[in-house]
Amino acid sequence: MLIARICSWCGRSLPPKECKDPCSEMLVNAVTHTICEECFEKAMQELNSSPAKNNKPKE
Ligand SMILES: [Zn+2]
Repeated sequence: MLIARICSWCGRSLPPKECKDPCSEMLVNAVTHTICEECFEKAMQELNSSPAKNNKPKE
């Protein structure tokens, strides 16, 4: 079956993926949340460019 894919970051619909052995969660929703290449690269750049931000205590 085809599993629809949506980017969790920008909400864009990605090409559906053929899944021969979908897990039960996929069968219920027939959609999976993933990350597109653009958002993945952005996230990686942010992680690499500002590592100090993540170390700040939240108060
Ligand atoms: Zn995206």
